[in-house]
Formats: sequence, structure tokens, C-alpha cells
Amino acid sequence: MTSPGPVRVRVAPSPTGDPHVGTAYMSLFNLAFARQQGGQFLLRVEDTDRARFRADSEQQVYDTLHWLGLDWDEGPDKGGPYAPYRQSERLDTYRPHVDRLLADGHAYLCWCSGERLTQMREDQQKRKVPTGYDRLCVGKTEAERAALPGFSPTPVVRMLVPDDVPLSFVDLVRGEVHAPRPDDQVILKSDGFPTYHLAVVVDDHLMGITHVVRGEEWISSTPKHLLLFDWLGWERPEFAHMPLLRNVDKSKISKRKNPAARLTWFQEQGYLPEALLNFLGLLGYSLPEADKEIFTFEEMSASFDWKRVNTVGPVFDLDKLGWLNGHYVRELSEADFAERALPFLQRAGLVADPASADQLAALAAVVPLVQTRVAVLSELPDLVRFLFVAEDDFAVDPAAAVKALGEGSAAVLTAAADALEGVQDWSAEKVQAAVDGALLEDGLGLKRGKAYTPRRAAVGGASSAPPLPESIALLGRERSLQRLRAAASPDGGVR
Ligand code: GLU
Repeated sequence: MTSPGPVRVRVAPSPTGDPHVGTAYMSLFNLAFARQQGGQFLLRVEDTDRARFRADSEQQVYDTLHWLGLDWDEGPDKGGPYAPYRQSERLDTYRPHVDRLLADGHAYLCWCSGERLTQMREDQQKRKVPTGYDRLCVGKTEAERAALPGFSPTPVVRMLVPDDVPLSFVDLVRGEVHAPRPDDQVILKSDGFPTYHLAVVVDDHLMGITHVVRGEEWISSTPKHLLLFDWLGWERPEFAHMPLLRNVDKSKISKRKNPAARLTWFQEQGYLPEALLNFLGLLGYSLPEADKEIFTFEEMSASFDWKRVNTVGPVFDLDKLGWLNGHYVRELSEADFAERALPFLQRAGLVADPASADQLAALAAVVPLVQTRVAVLSELPDLVRFLFVAEDDFAVDPAAAVKALGEGSAAVLTAAADALEGVQDWSAEKVQAAVDGALLEDGLGLKRGKAYTPRRAAVGGASSAPPLPESIALLGRERSLQRLRAAASPDGGVR
């Protein structure tokens, strides 16, 4: 036996739309293993499915994986000793291997038209027999086959799967695995593109991949891949099939049904990459300290062991992710939080791009009040709108004030404004003391709740805001008084 070379693993996304959360999950596990082993992690773009190809998808894969800090050593954008790393640029690489399989009798040309194959499948389903190619083309020349119905002049190439194909293999995560008998898989399409099954084997071999780490949906394909490795006389890599991420109802996470299947969704919602990474790790892996739920990539990688990978479909529980995210949000320094929050306020149109010095100062001032109050950053604009909104666009909510206090609202708001006029040192404490004095037992004699609601509506508007005295302190004397008086005035709607 040759001595084992360095570990080389890969993630092989197909650029067919917004990157799937599974791409990050697979990248995380591949990379954790590669880093632990001092090996390499490759990114290979599997773009041979031209019907589903989307041009912007590859860049989105790069952007979202970079956002998560999952970086690769070789890839289409980086190059490397086995370039090109995009399968559509490797078409010449596959053909000789197909020719060899044909010459050795492990593969054959199939001229069956799409219509014939559909018909055949429908018949099989009707007769309740296993579906699969019926081998009409096996052993026929083109001329012989052309004499029969359902002929297409542009053939595909199929594997001739032997009767005694081994159906079990050893998986690093699952031990011995049994897979169903494969069909005579198409390996070269009529457009000259290889299918995934051929390209993955050729590229994993040529790129020196030692461990194929991928989703469990590929278990049933593995016997076909092993046949190809054997037929081509290549050493088999090891296989690790990760459990698929599942919805709470245990169904497979799909981009059509669940927005959380799209990696860009997590960015839009304002999840922190470190939280999502921890969450994905937690879904498939447990640290030796079994109860430890909060861990870094480095901790996961250092302890990495295939035996610690779960085999039961982990449930994608967004409540859990929200909890983890809240934890990571609170861990951020105030400056870091402000920096990450800024794009969300810009997108909501509350802060200009680039932000003015005043806006940055307001953001820095409000951070201590909101950092503990959000689970995801997209909740921020609502919390701080009262502070950033232009005064002309500010909508008082007099209806809420009237509802809370009925006829007395205007008096409450006016009394609060009058009391605030006298505040010298404009701080949350002084604001609170002055307003309490005017509205509670020493003043109008109101209960705290009754004194609070109209002011909240007047100062915060329809959006929720941090605690009221702090909100008033941040908003400043001028704007606070203006809002209280406007809400109390007849055309403010409160009488
Ligand atoms: N292109 C395949 C996919 O999109 C990769 C599967 C594999 O890793 O072998 O899932």
C-alpha cells in the first residue's frame, strides 16, 4: 500500500440558483476535517446541467461562503494545480474516459428517444415493475437500432451495470451502507456534456480527492461511482455521507418551500455568520463536551471525528438559530455591532450611504439600548426608526394615544412637555424624574401605564423603540418637545 497522501476534500456545488444552505453545511464539514488534517479544501463548480444553469449563481456561492468564513484553497476563482475547476471547461477531459469504458464493454451507446424512454417508464409504472432502462440498444449497431421505433440519431452513453454490482460500501459516518441496485446510468449526454456521475468520478480522481464528503442523497449513486473508479483502474476515495437537513416536519429542506434553504436569506434577515456556522455545526456534529452548544469553527475542527457526526436528519429549528444568534449579537463589541447594523438601517432608508457623521453618532448612542433587544439585525430598523426618521416623515400615532387615555391624552402630553421644558441636564434620569413628577401621584395622579402610552406613541410613533426615558434623551430636547406638542395639538388628532 502507498502511504496516505495529504487529505484533499471538496465541495462541488451546482450553480443552479441561490446557493442552498446545504452548500454551506457541506463546506463546513469538509473544511473542518481538512484543517484538522492539514489538508486542502477545493471548490469545484459542477455546471454540466445546462438546463438549470444560472450565470449569477457561482458568484453568489463565493460571496455567501466568504461571508461565512469558509474559504477554499483551490477553485475556479483561485486557480490551483488541477485547474480548471469548472466542469464546463473540462469537457475534453471526460471524453477519453468514456471511450475507454466503451472499448472495454463497460458502457454502450443508447439511441432511444426521449419519447420512447418516457413511454417505457410509464409502461413499467403501470405494470408495477421496477423502472429502469430496458437495454433495447445493448449489442446493437446504429443501423440495427435505427430500424426499430423510438430512434434518435444523437446517442447518449450508458454504463452497463453488471448483475453482480456490489451494493454495499463502508461509509465513514454510517459504517456499512446498502444501496439499491442502480439503473444503466447515462454518463455522457447527447449534447456531449458528461452527467454528474461521470464528471464527479473523473474529477475526484484527477484532483486527488481522498475523501468524498457529501449529502446522504448521494448514497444511492455511490455504487455507480465505485464501479466507475474500479473500471477505470483508479483508487477509491473514502466516503462520508452527511445527514440531510430537514424541516421541523422532517421533510427535506427545499428552496421552493422554505426561504431558509437559501443562504442569502440569512444575510437578508441579519443572522451573524458566526451564529449560522455554529448552528450548522451543531446540526451535524457534537463536541466531546456533549452539552456544549456554543462553539467556534476552530473548536469543531480541532475535535473533528467522523464518529461524532450525527446520522439522524437534523431538524432546522429557526428558534434555536434565533437563540444562538441573539447570543452572538450580545457578544459583539458596540463598535462591531454598529458596523454590522449600519447596512440594515441604510437598506431601510433610515441612514444615508455613506452615513453622515451625525447619523454615525446617533447610531453609536443608540447601540447600548438595542443590542440586547434584537435576535436578528433586520429587527433593528423598527426599533430605531423614531430616532433616524426625518421629522417631516415622522408619523405620530394619536389614535393609539387616544385609545390609551381617551379624552385625557392631550393634557398628559402637554403636562409632560411642560415638565420637560424645565429639564436642565438632558439625561434619561432627569427626563424620567421630571415626567414622573408631573404625571404620577405628585402631579396628575395617573398610574404609570396610563402616563406612559400616549408619550410612547407621541415620541416613538408607530414603531417600537427602546425604553422611553432613554428614547427621549437620545431624541433630544427639541425634537421630543415638538413631537409631544404636535401629538397634543388639535390637528395632531388628540383632544
Ligand atoms: N454537484 C453535486 C451537488 O450539487 C455534488 C455532489 C457531490 O458532492 O458529489 O450536490
